[in-house]
Amino acid sequence: DQKARTADLDAETLWRQDRDHFIHPFTDFSQFHDKGCEMITDSDGIYVEDVHGNRFIDGIAGLWCVNVGHGRREIAQAMADQASRMAYFSTFNNLSNAPASQLAAKLAELAPAHLNHVFYTCGGSTANDATIRLVHYYFNRLGKPNKKRILSRRNAYHGTTYLAASLTGIESNNWSFDTLSELVTHLSEANLYRRPEGMSESEYCDHLVNELEAHIAKIGADNIAAFIAEPIMGAGGVLMAPRGYHKRIQAVCRANDILYIADEVVTGFGRLGHFFASEAVFETQPDIINIAKGLSSGYSPLGASLISDELYAVLGTPQCKGGVLSTGFTYSGHPVSCAAALKNIEIMEREDICANVREVGPYLEQSLKSLSHHTTVGDVRGSNFMMCLENVADKATGELLPVEARVGDRVAEEAQKRGLIIRPVGHLNVISPTLIWSRETVDTAVTILDEALSATTASLKRDGFI
Ligand code: PLP
Repeated sequence: DQKARTADLDAETLWRQDRDHFIHPFTDFSQFHDKGCEMITDSDGIYVEDVHGNRFIDGIAGLWCVNVGHGRREIAQAMADQASRMAYFSTFNNLSNAPASQLAAKLAELAPAHLNHVFYTCGGSTANDATIRLVHYYFNRLGKPNKKRILSRRNAYHGTTYLAASLTGIESNNWSFDTLSELVTHLSEANLYRRPEGMSESEYCDHLVNELEAHIAKIGADNIAAFIAEPIMGAGGVLMAPRGYHKRIQAVCRANDILYIADEVVTGFGRLGHFFASEAVFETQPDIINIAKGLSSGYSPLGASLISDELYAVLGTPQCKGGVLSTGFTYSGHPVSCAAALKNIEIMEREDICANVREVGPYLEQSLKSLSHHTTVGDVRGSNFMMCLENVADKATGELLPVEARVGDRVAEEAQKRGLIIRPVGHLNVISPTLIWSRETVDTAVTILDEALSATTASLKRDGFI
């Protein structure tokens, strides 16, 4: 059946159409024009398949998003039913649709108690972007128009609209691009693995909190609107904060009338074993939580900002006679995407997917840690289904291999040859599976990674890098 489905696609034609016409996001053009792309055409459960019929375990859940796994006919059916009944109608000007309303109520039920209002977007970048506009609007309405600056962190990833890219702190992401640098101040990232030498975890936490307080003193709380953070930094390298960090940061923000925005685009919807990690894992009560990806398990584009009662009390009243909350997108509350999300949540609840993550996640952590003996593995970190290997030249000092060694690519290529897709991010390898992995799948994946790391060490030796 699978073979029959791929056979009708002409691999060579597809490869050429793609290479000649599709400008891919985040693509290295030094190789693209020769190599083009690998075409992934089919999927089922924990697997994806390429156009040639090769099957791989998907170790990255698409792009940290296919949380309930691939090929869920129920979601496809819910989308088809909604598209047949009514594919689209406006949600502007007092119009709505059933799935958007039902999903908003469901999200309010799942979210921390004070987050009862949903602003729909098309994905994660637009959720972060919309949020900043709403936060500025909120303070303007409160008569605090100087509260504009957003505090973000180096190595944060918040997306690539102009505003979301400005919040992003991964320097290389913005090479040759412009950002709104006057709007955003980047603090240090919280990175336990590369914390200053000789600092204990709690001293490191103090250090980061002190840094925030120093910035607030310098900029002035009257000029700062919000702090935005991923509970665990994802694209920046699955960076783990010291224990208690988020809670203490939020307390400082509260004390200074600075809103706390949690970007849970990756950590939300089960990846850490809960629908939302902010309260359940990190003991914070954000003013806004932004979600996307796992919200629809990637079956249809969708993002959302969950807004507190306190903010809604202002956003939900007109700014002047005839004034409207004039922000939003044609596709805010898209019925087909919302139908996909509703079915996705139904599946997550019915199969208790969060419980699977809480059960298998620690096993994945522990199994990946068993790879630490490899010559190039400097750190194995993360939590539950959000994991990362940091490859280094020297385990004692954490010194990196030269960029030309392409160590992340090598490990990923060796793993893929053996049937597992993981993601290279510079010298790192991210493992962020579908949330339906069993212990047996973990064993298979870790055996493949073990072999891939041995093969990588051998090839790095052969090429004179170690
Ligand atoms: N925020 C975080 C934490 C992300 O990881 C991402 C995407 O990876 C985004 C925002 C941007 O989301 P999108 O690509 O859906 O715009």
